[in-house]
Amino acid sequence: MNLHEYQARSLLKAAGIPLADGEVATTPAEAEAIARRLGGAVVIKAQVHAGGRGKAGGVKVAAGPAEAAERAAEILGMQIKGLVVEKVLVVPAAEISSESYVGLILDRASQRPVFMVSAAGGVDIEEVAARTPEKIVRVGVDPRYGLLGHQALKLALSLYRDWNQARAAIRVMQQLYRAFMANGCSLAEINPLITTPDGRVVALDAKMVIDDNELDRRPDLAAMRDESAEDPSEVAARHAGLSFIKLDGNVGCVVNGAGLAMATMDLVKYYGGEPANFLDIGGSSNPEKVINALRIITGDPRVKVILFNIFGGITRTDDVANGIVAATRQFKVEVPIVIRLTGTNEKEALAILDGVGMTALNDMDAAVSRAVELTREAA
Ligand code: GDP
Ligand code: MN
Repeated sequence: MNLHEYQARSLLKAAGIPLADGEVATTPAEAEAIARRLGGAVVIKAQVHAGGRGKAGGVKVAAGPAEAAERAAEILGMQIKGLVVEKVLVVPAAEISSESYVGLILDRASQRPVFMVSAAGGVDIEEVAARTPEKIVRVGVDPRYGLLGHQALKLALSLYRDWNQARAAIRVMQQLYRAFMANGCSLAEINPLITTPDGRVVALDAKMVIDDNELDRRPDLAAMRDESAEDPSEVAARHAGLSFIKLDGNVGCVVNGAGLAMATMDLVKYYGGEPANFLDIGGSSNPEKVINALRIITGDPRVKVILFNIFGGITRTDDVANGIVAATRQFKVEVPIVIRLTGTNEKEALAILDGVGMTALNDMDAAVSRAVELTREAA
C-alpha cells in the first residue's frame, strides 16, 4: 500500500526524523490559510501516489499566502502520471545547499533491507541510477543486528564531509531503519535529504510503501489507505477478493492460482504479447468471482482480448464456465475471449460453453498464442 507524502512524513516524524510541520489542503483557500498560519515562503506539493511530482509541475514554491492560493489552484486538479491531484501539502519552504538521496528497500534477492544512498540526490536520481550507478552506495542490513555503526558511518561519509552533517545523517538513517521495520515497509525513502545554508540536515520529502501483509495487524496503517488515489480497477478487485495487479499491456488475464498466473504472464510475453494485468481468481470456485474479474478487465479500454487459463483442481472448471456465461449475459464483452481450461468437471464446463456457442482449448500454449495473435489482428 502506498502512502501519501504527508502520511509518510507523520510516521517518519514520529521516528524522530527532522521534517517541517505542514498541513493538507483540498482547496486554494485552505492552502492560503495554512500559508498565512505558517508565515513566510511555503511549498505547495501534490499528494498523489507517484514520484517525479517536481518534474511534472506538482511541487511549487510560493512567497506568501496569496501566491500559495494561486499555486494550489494550479496543482489541484492536475494529473500526474494519470492520477488526479485531490490534495496538496503546504509546508514551510527550506533553503537548499545540497540534495542527497537516502532510500531503504526490501531486497528479495539478499532477503534483507538494503540502504541506497547518494550525494547526487534530488529529482534526477533515476538518471543517476541509470547512467552513473557508481554514485549510489548500497549497504545491506542484517535484520538480526540492525544498522551497524560502521555501516551507518560508511553511508553517511559518502554523503557528507562535514562531521556534524555526517552524524546527523547517521541519526536519520537509524531512524529511517526503525520506522521501516516498525511499520512493515517494503520501501522508505527520503529524496531529497538536504543541507541548509546554515548547515542543518533536513528531510524535504518522504515516501513509504507498506507491505499489504502488515495491514491486518496494523489497523492504524490500514486506515491510511486512500482509495480515491488508487487505481479504480485495483480497488474494485480488492473489494471482490481478487488478487489483481494492473499492468500496461492489452491481454487481459483471468487465471486460478498465483503460480499459474505468473506462468501465464510469462507465456504471453514469450509469444510477443503484453499482459494487461495479473489476476488470480483464487482457489475457491465461485462464479461471482469470474463475473467480477470480467467486469474489471473489460473496464480497461486497452484490453484487446481476454485470456482464461484455468487448471481445475479445487477450482471447478464448470463454475468458471458458468461465471463466463453469466457475465456475458450481465454486460457486453466487446473483445474476444480465449479460454483454456482443463481439470475438474472439464466435460461439464465444455458442455456449458458449447450451449452458448463458445469453445475452450485444452492446451496452454495454443490458448496463449491464439490470444496474442488476436491482439495483433485487433491492432
Ligand atoms: P518529487 O519530485 O515527487 O520527489 O517531490 P519532492 O518533494 O522531492 O520535490 C521535488 C524538488 O522540489 C526537490 O528535489 C527540491 O529541489 C524542490 N523542493 C522541494 N521542497 C523544497 C523547498 O522547501 N525549498 C526549495 N527551494 N525547493 C524545494
Ligand atoms: Mn522527492
